[in-house]
Amino acid sequence: MVPQWLIEKKRDGLALSESEIREFIAGYVDGSIPDYQMAAMAMAIYLKGMTPEEIAVLTDAMMRSGAMVDTSSIEAPTVDKHSTGGIGDKVSIILAPLAACAGLAVPMISGRGLGITGGTLDKLESIPGFNVNLSEAQFIETIKKCGFSMIGQTGEIAPADKKLYALRDVTGTVASIPLITASIMCKKMAEGISSLVLDVKVGSGAFMKTLEDATALAHSMVRVGKAMGKGIVACITDMNQPLGRTAGNALEIIESMECLQGRHLDGDLMQVTLALTAEMLLLAGKAPDRPTALATLRSIIASGAAFEKFKEMAALQGADTSALDDLSRLPQASIVHPIPAPADGYVSAVSADGIGRAVLVLGGGRQKTDDTIDHAVGTTGLVKIGEHVRKGDPLVILHANSEEKLAQALPYAESAITLSDTPVPAPTLFYSTITD
Ligand code: URA
Repeated sequence: MVPQWLIEKKRDGLALSESEIREFIAGYVDGSIPDYQMAAMAMAIYLKGMTPEEIAVLTDAMMRSGAMVDTSSIEAPTVDKHSTGGIGDKVSIILAPLAACAGLAVPMISGRGLGITGGTLDKLESIPGFNVNLSEAQFIETIKKCGFSMIGQTGEIAPADKKLYALRDVTGTVASIPLITASIMCKKMAEGISSLVLDVKVGSGAFMKTLEDATALAHSMVRVGKAMGKGIVACITDMNQPLGRTAGNALEIIESMECLQGRHLDGDLMQVTLALTAEMLLLAGKAPDRPTALATLRSIIASGAAFEKFKEMAALQGADTSALDDLSRLPQASIVHPIPAPADGYVSAVSADGIGRAVLVLGGGRQKTDDTIDHAVGTTGLVKIGEHVRKGDPLVILHANSEEKLAQALPYAESAITLSDTPVPAPTLFYSTITD
């Protein structure tokens, strides 16, 4: 294989064959294809696109570049959920125990937060003792015992993606649907799951800003999942404002535990969580239709079983679960600072980006991968678009551990929320469900 001939072929808009894609990726991983040739190929893909068949092969080649989890000893259907990411998105923490209570096995491998997006692992680590670094054998054992486990990567999953993602980041080739599809799907497919529910976020706080782009990405990922023989569905949901009312690690655990105990059932966070978990049940054949799936999930929440299931998993992973029964034992910030509404009005915008930046400068996020984070800080009591507030009501409450960081965060949080004199409709939460 002569790498530049394949780059020229893609540059001219032609489809690469299966063996050409596999050899190119193998060469990139073993170092025989240098970064500059991979960068040129990534740009050619960015500009000319790929056929669904090419994307499926690229995903498979990237998946096979590293470790794959062997879930064959698990009897229950293995189903996971992946979100393209947003602010305040703590859905996984509520969804996984709920799905486990409904008879699914959920092998959830999550990431850490970077920049303004939070990470499930950081949120879980705000629970004293919680260990996200299980071996593959411990991961499988935990799933067999309680139906789910939530960890970071075990072996090196998809090293081709790690290398290529870093290259895309500095060569203007991140926002390419074929490359995003392969990057996300190669990591999820390496988990050894039989089915996957995708939550593709759209809006100002999401990777995909327009419904058109989100829909195209959803179709692309669903097609790859199907080509790889998986049950798969994508829901397109709103990220024009943060999900739920908290952002920041321990604060998001508190909101998640409240949801598992049956609170906030009508809020956006629980609506999205229940809808995505229902799709998991449908894919696994655990419910005949959506209304039945939703009714099952609501009764699991009402019985208290989902909260107990989360505690069971947390205990198996080393956590001190008394901190979940008494949430005041989770890390708490020393300064609690409400931002009052300057006037009566209707909330017309809550910038997810602005709230994410406020949490980041408070110390709740990372600017570099090796930064340490403060689990206690963040925001609570966030208003939602469409709500009416009176002058002096809190729009959001900042939790800080230093006056200096509070002062840095205040302008981001204050400018994130906009009021209007006239009523504003709440934004659409669900746009569509993509199955092909
Ligand atoms: N998330 C990923 O893992 N990869 C992408 O390319 C984009 C988002």
